[in-house]
Amino acid sequence: MPFLIQTTETQLHAMGNTCQNCAYCLRVDTTTLRCGQTYFQLPPSERKPMRLEHYPVVQADNSCPAWANQNAGVLRAG
Ligand code: SF4
Repeated sequence: MPFLIQTTETQLHAMGNTCQNCAYCLRVDTTTLRCGQTYFQLPPSERKPMRLEHYPVVQADNSCPAWANQNAGVLRAG
């Protein structure tokens, strides 16, 4: 009988903490999302914008532990 292991990712996904709601998400167009975590984690004075191809494509319903580690003040209201 198969069993499920609830990972941090699946727990976050269940709470709706997905890329499409993440403050680090860069919406390129109506269908493409990219993760800007490496950019936004730097202090504003140290940020150097790069071409969008340098940020990894993410799926709208994806989750990652970084979402939960953000300060609640920077998260987008769902
Ligand atoms: S991969 Fe993680 S940090 Fe990047 S946009 Fe998605 S939830 Fe946010």
